[in-house]
Amino acid sequence: MFKRKRSAPRLGEVIRKTQLSPNMLRVTFGGEAMKGFPTDAASANIKLLLPQAEHDHAAYIEALNGTGTKPIKRTYTVANYDADSNELDIDFALHSHAGPATAFALNAKLGDLVGIAGPSQPKLVNKDADWFLIAGDMTAIPAIEANLRYLPDNARGHIVIEVQDDNDKRDFAKPDLMQLTYLLNSKPEDGGSILAETVTSLEWLPGTPSVWMAGESSGVREVRTYLAKTKLLDRRCRYTSGYWQIGQDEDDFQLVKRSEPDI
Ligand SMILES: Cc1cc2nc3c(=O)[nH]c(=O)nc-3n(C[C@H](O)[C@H](O)[C@H](O)COP(=O)(O)OP(=O)(O)OC[C@H]3O[C@@H](n4cnc5c(N)ncnc54)[C@H](O)[C@@H]3O)c2cc1C
Repeated sequence: MFKRKRSAPRLGEVIRKTQLSPNMLRVTFGGEAMKGFPTDAASANIKLLLPQAEHDHAAYIEALNGTGTKPIKRTYTVANYDADSNELDIDFALHSHAGPATAFALNAKLGDLVGIAGPSQPKLVNKDADWFLIAGDMTAIPAIEANLRYLPDNARGHIVIEVQDDNDKRDFAKPDLMQLTYLLNSKPEDGGSILAETVTSLEWLPGTPSVWMAGESSGVREVRTYLAKTKLLDRRCRYTSGYWQIGQDEDDFQLVKRSEPDI
C-alpha cells in the first residue's frame, strides 16, 4: 500500500448539498483550492478541519496554517472526486447527537469554506482474494460503495450494511455474486446493533477472503477478534476499522483507538 505525501490543508468551498436518503447528506466541495485533488482517492479518508467557537475567520485561517488554537478535526471518506468538474463529494451519516461535523453539514450554506486535509491512501479490499466480505454501518457506506465499484465482475461473497431507516437502503451497483443484506437499526447511538452478530454468522466460503468492515467500534472489535482468533485470518486479509464509538466524540475515541492492542 502506498503512502501519500502530507500536503497543506485545502479550503474547500461548499457548492452543493444533496439529501441522498433520510439519514445521508452529501456535501459537494469545489473551488480553486480543490483543483489537483487526487483522482484515485475514493474510499480514502480526509480530515475536515472545522472552526472552534472562538475562531473568527482570520483566526480560523491562521489555525489552518498551523498557528493558534487548532481547528476541530473530524474524519470522513472521499465518496468521489471528479477532476473534470473539480467536485469532491463527502457523505455525512446524520446522527442525533450532531457533533461539530454533523452540525457543519446540516448548516452549511453554498459558498462556505472549510479546511480539508488529506486524503490518505485508499481503503480497498484485495482484488485477488478468493472471495469478499464487506460490512459496515452508514458511516462506512461511502467507502463500501467505492469498494463495490473496485471489485472484479466475478467477485463473490457477502455485503452487510446497517441503515437507520428503510429508505436509507440504496440500490448499489455490485457484482451479481455479491449477496447484499440490509439490517435496520433506527438508533445506532443507543446500541442494539446486530451487525457483528450477523457478520460472524455468515457462511464462510472456500478459499481466502478479503474482509473489509467499518462502523461503530464495539461491533468492529467483535468482528476483528472473530477473524483473528476464530478464523485465524491473517491481518493482511482484513481491514477492520472503528469509525466512531457510542458515547465518545471523535477526539476521545481517537485516543482510545491508539491504545488498542494490535491483533
Ligand atoms: C476513517 C474514517 C472514515 C469515516 N468516514 C465517514 C463518512 O464518510 N461519513 C460519515 O458519516 N462518517 C464517517 N466517519 C465517522 C465520523 O468521523 C464520526 O461519526 C464522527 O464522530 C462524526 O463527528 P461529529 O462531529 O458529528 O460527532 P462527534 O463530536 O465526534 O460525536 C458526538 C456524539 O455523537 C456520537 N456519534 C458520532 N458519530 C455517530 C454516528 N454515526 N451515529 C450515531 N452517533 C454518533 C458520538 O458517540 C458522540 O456521542 C469516519 C470515521 C473514520 C475514522
